[in-house]
Amino acid sequence: MSRLLLVSNRLPVTVKVEKDSVSVVRSAGGLATGLSRPHERSGGVWLGWPGDVSRLTDAQRAKVEAQLEALRCVPLYLSASEVSRYYEGYSNRVLWPLCHYMVDRIPRQDRDWEIYRKVNERFADLVVRHYQPGDTIWVHDYQLMLVPGLLRQRLPDARIGYFHHIPFPSSEIFSTLPRRQALLRGLLGADLIGFHTVSYVRHFSGALMRQLGLDTDIDRVIWDGREVRVGAFPMGIDAAAFESLANDPGVLEEVATLRRKAEGQRILLGIDRLDYTKGIPRRLLAVQRVLEREPAWRGRLRFIQVAVPSRTQVEAYAAYREKVDELVGRINGLYGGVHNVPVHYLYRSFNEKQLVGLYRAADVMLVTPVRDGMNLVAKEFCASRPDEDGVLVLSEFAGAAAEMDSALIVNAYDVEAIADAIEEALELSEDERRKRMRALREGVKSHDVHWWTSSFLNRLQSLPSTAERKTGGGAEALERMKAAPRLHLLLDYDGTLVGFASRPELAAPDDALRALLAKLLARPGTSLSIVSGRPKETLEAWFGELPMSLHAEHGLWSRTRPGQPWRMLEGVSFEWKARARPVLDAFCERVPGSFLEEKTASLAWHYRMVDPEFGAIQARELRLLLLETFVGQRMDVLPGDRVVEVRPQGVHKGRVVGEATQGLAPGTLVVAIGDDRTDEDLFAAMPPDGLTINAGHKPTRAAFRVNGSGEVRKLLGALVS
Ligand code: UDP
Repeated sequence: MSRLLLVSNRLPVTVKVEKDSVSVVRSAGGLATGLSRPHERSGGVWLGWPGDVSRLTDAQRAKVEAQLEALRCVPLYLSASEVSRYYEGYSNRVLWPLCHYMVDRIPRQDRDWEIYRKVNERFADLVVRHYQPGDTIWVHDYQLMLVPGLLRQRLPDARIGYFHHIPFPSSEIFSTLPRRQALLRGLLGADLIGFHTVSYVRHFSGALMRQLGLDTDIDRVIWDGREVRVGAFPMGIDAAAFESLANDPGVLEEVATLRRKAEGQRILLGIDRLDYTKGIPRRLLAVQRVLEREPAWRGRLRFIQVAVPSRTQVEAYAAYREKVDELVGRINGLYGGVHNVPVHYLYRSFNEKQLVGLYRAADVMLVTPVRDGMNLVAKEFCASRPDEDGVLVLSEFAGAAAEMDSALIVNAYDVEAIADAIEEALELSEDERRKRMRALREGVKSHDVHWWTSSFLNRLQSLPSTAERKTGGGAEALERMKAAPRLHLLLDYDGTLVGFASRPELAAPDDALRALLAKLLARPGTSLSIVSGRPKETLEAWFGELPMSLHAEHGLWSRTRPGQPWRMLEGVSFEWKARARPVLDAFCERVPGSFLEEKTASLAWHYRMVDPEFGAIQARELRLLLLETFVGQRMDVLPGDRVVEVRPQGVHKGRVVGEATQGLAPGTLVVAIGDDRTDEDLFAAMPPDGLTINAGHKPTRAAFRVNGSGEVRKLLGALVS
């Protein structure tokens, strides 16, 4: 196992100051427990903020540091203003509500961005200082979304993982954030990006597509010449520890006391941080609805709601607290009696033992967040029920709902539905309760926090290292080109020499490109071919007068010099068009914004102007349909950049290489530059000592990679400067 560097906003410790002594104690939280084993075994360190230590004397601080070192924790101290702007500001006032779909809770989108970026840089600096080659770095959560990218710049070969512990919102919500692209680029610095659920993975892929134009292939995406993996790793809890606490004699005694106090009553339980994502008001209203509509339950329900104080410096939390206080008061005022109140509201935190006592005493656990990355309370409740009793009511908007379908799943926005679920839970037969709880416990125990840690780390560590996967960069390619006595360049056009436009005719060559080509043609010992999918008429109109060879429609048509006739490849059939056209016409009709381009030997369906996600789905379907139409026939159905093209086999850019390089002087370096799948044919047909450069993000057989047409032009410009 390689050394593990864990990076999170908070270190898994609490610094305690009592009179003149200070001590550092390990926290018991889920993440701390899950990561403690690999942290200890790998011999690595954990880097993060130890909490506010500003009031410590120098001597106390030295003591704290010694104790942290013994725990192999490396502190990153945050100033008061960093805490208020990076942590409370950008992280908790912007990213937290954004990822929980609460865009209208974001007061000022951009105010604290700079500090967020700077603190992320500080974290990256610290990691770099502790990094040793071969280490695995695992960055945690939304406070540090830029860290993977910052690390990648400075440690290009490091193995980096990132886990997002909160939801990743639908791309339409994510797109409202001014810094959306910077954050995505930050995450893409990682080799493996983990989320709790498949939905979050899908949302993230959608954001990559909309914001950066990247196509994810189920669980991977190419970025900056690297393959980045994306996956769902639902986090678990230390189930065995909860189970054993649930059987602890002290806990059982507390359970008995709780039940005795609630004699003749059923216990409903809610345990949350006091956070506006947790759905506490609607849960309270649902309890009120039950009492309102079913007089038989009055006096017979005891709803214990634990609300742990949280983020009290953030205004939205104070307002939320008032709302909850008010609702509790109202319900108790309406339905309380001299001897009992329906809502027992506890605004404080409890230790694990006390929590397990509550879990085990409850009849119904209400976990009804309006949005929650996972929700561990739901899992802890089940792990704490070795008696296999108790009913879980779970919001469909908690990540946990994706795994825990034996709970009573509710729409947490629908007060009436939560009230129905509470009543259903209260009335479930013992047999049904057991059946459900047994299934829930099985999942919670088999997919515990140790499973989570090892499945993420195993995946991360089994990926080929960045060094193994990397293609060379532009600088190295340029060196070889400069060193060659003679050069022949095979250049794709769209995506390689120019960027993409909404319609093909709009991507005409600009003056700068014309000047660049002219200079290259004037360079001693240098010759050029344009190898494009475009029709010959277009290439002739754009480049007809330049002394280079032109190859149109992926090599179907070729013209060697200005004034020479265009010649077509022999033996190409056309009768397939009549069968393909109706299929393509139907897609043009049903996908607004898409259109058909007809060339001599191919038909191309373009969807650049279509909504990217919808377009990609339709393109997949079209490819399947075309493959079906031409099954067993010598036809190719090719996905390109926002285009699906169908053409007879054997017409491909690779056919050009022989003709274009015929008669070149010995020692000429042949260079092919292209960006999409059709250029892979060109690369495949290159002579073994040729040089291949991919100008895009997709998987490629090319030996080198540069980033888009801008960098291609820079590279070619460097040859003639
Ligand atoms: N918790 C706690 N003391 C309390 C109440 C809750 O330590 O008084 C713990 C609880 O056991 C759980 C965590 O806080 O492990 C809450 O995690 P969850 O995923 O449910 O919500 P989050 O607070 O992360 O949004």
